[in-house]
Amino acid sequence: TSIQELLLSRIRDVADYPEPGVMFKDITPLLADPAAFTALTDTLAELATATGATKIVGLEARGFILGAPVAVRAGLGFIPVRKAGKLPGATLRQAYDLEYGSAEIEVHAEDLSDGDRVFIVDDVLATGGTAEAAIKLIERAGARVSGVAVLMELGFLQGRARLESALNGAPLEALLQV
Ligand code: 5GP
Repeated sequence: TSIQELLLSRIRDVADYPEPGVMFKDITPLLADPAAFTALTDTLAELATATGATKIVGLEARGFILGAPVAVRAGLGFIPVRKAGKLPGATLRQAYDLEYGSAEIEVHAEDLSDGDRVFIVDDVLATGGTAEAAIKLIERAGARVSGVAVLMELGFLQGRARLESALNGAPLEALLQV
């Protein structure tokens, strides 16, 4: 079976989570399967390397679980982008709109510099709001985004279109499409 079939077989659909009407894609079965988790890590690390990345950014919280082993595999440093208020040092902060209200994410300003080419990792691309804010944050820190990779893209939410101008030609890689 292909890597894609393996990965897809380890994602569980949970109806009405976190609220009625939402079909949540649960990646915990994939994380618990060493063959699937290793295949995912290796694939994402190859994609990151192919873009000439110098750092891996993971988006809280599942982007940490995926991004950290990708960074180790690719031989690159890992930088966490966190929800506001969690990082102890001097940060840059970026707000973005949610369906109801807004949210803010942060990065340690000293973790990124001018020459960096940053590869962003997350589990799911939904509306693209989180990834779009992360791209803005990384660019405000003076670095460039070499690419974005997600395990799964929820195509019906149009996140790819939302990210297009922020990506500025950098690739958006999705291993699985729903
Ligand atoms: P967006 O900002 O693209 O609308 O939402 C993406 C963020 O929400 C990602 O960080 C992702 O972890 C989370 N997310 C949204 N929907 C799902 C889902 O169905 N499954 C998982 N695992 N995460 C989701």
